[in-house]
Amino acid sequence: MTSPISRPVPRTGILDIEAYVPGKSKAKGGAKTFKLSSNETPHGPAASAIEAYKSAGMTLDLYPDGASRALREAIATRYGLDVNRIVCGCGSDDLLHLLATAYIGPGDEGIMTKHGFQIYYIAIQTSGGVPVISEEKNFTADVDDILLRVTPRTKAVFIANPNNPTGTYLPFEEIKRLHAGLPSHVLLVLDAAYAEYVVKNDYTSGLEMVSTYDNVVMTRTFSKIYGLASLRIGWMYAPEEICDIVNRIRGPFNVSGPGIAAGIAAINDTKHVEMSVAHNDKWLNWLSEEVRAAGLEVTPSVANFILVHFSRKPGFTAAEAEEFLAQRGLIVRGVGSYHLPDAIRITIGTEEATRLVAAALREFAAHGAKGNVGA
Ligand SMILES: *Cc1c(COP(=O)(O)O)cnc(C)c1O
Repeated sequence: MTSPISRPVPRTGILDIEAYVPGKSKAKGGAKTFKLSSNETPHGPAASAIEAYKSAGMTLDLYPDGASRALREAIATRYGLDVNRIVCGCGSDDLLHLLATAYIGPGDEGIMTKHGFQIYYIAIQTSGGVPVISEEKNFTADVDDILLRVTPRTKAVFIANPNNPTGTYLPFEEIKRLHAGLPSHVLLVLDAAYAEYVVKNDYTSGLEMVSTYDNVVMTRTFSKIYGLASLRIGWMYAPEEICDIVNRIRGPFNVSGPGIAAGIAAINDTKHVEMSVAHNDKWLNWLSEEVRAAGLEVTPSVANFILVHFSRKPGFTAAEAEEFLAQRGLIVRGVGSYHLPDAIRITIGTEEATRLVAAALREFAAHGAKGNVGA
């Protein structure tokens, strides 16, 4: 006797999920390549973080501290935070998924913006919820539009501030207005993966809101400015009650021993961070100006990447630009899956890479894909 279903079948909704597609890491051809497709730092981690990682390699047989206590203490000291309100994760992606799992159930709604970070969409779907998409204005989250979409089924709002892949941000006044307009049972998740890069007086990552309200969570990562993307370390600052919930469902050892060790060293090396911010500020502005001078539109960015817009004219499209750059060893991110088919996202790399991008885009803007002849 055979049952009508002959193999395991996933829960309703799982097959609707499209897997996250990371930025490309290789170009065709053997020439020197620059990976500018995943917003990684061009500087690598602090030397002290690499040392700490290597030392931790001597104890790979031991389980790490499941509470990541020492890392949480280092984070708390660095930012003047309450250690009991910090939870670490296997990257901040882990924490975003855990928050969705904990607070969004089948049929519930989670709001994100049209060009918001795709992990929110996947996390909401994974928990059985319905992603509700808010329209943006000038590639920026629109508080009024978000608030219009709140219903009795809304359980969470996910905002990357600054947002990836647009590089735009909401000033603190707007975040406060968003929070004030939300019912108090709706969780507001502020994903501050690029907070360290922002040099704007009207920006804050949301730490002080977490201290004040019961429904605000802020997430951060060691993957971007700290240069530890491969180690997978993130953290969140949240009300104690939310930390308790996430601690119940997270993996008991979701941060590795080498990750804890390297994270502590990295967060204590403020010089490395300052150098990275200064480099980014200089070359972000320089590249944005160069690309505008080439006649292409750039969305003003406060993060470590820019969104460049192209026309639909054959020979001058975003897909052709991506290919044109790839042939010069410059790997960038197509963002069609972010409802941005006419744009590409370019990470700010080394001075060498940034100058090459500027020169290549000038050439592309002038001659289009034809310029590739003989390249
Ligand atoms: C890169 C990024 C993250 C970080 O992800 P990790 O899992 O910590 O590596 C989170 N949010 C946004 C918007 C990002 O761009």
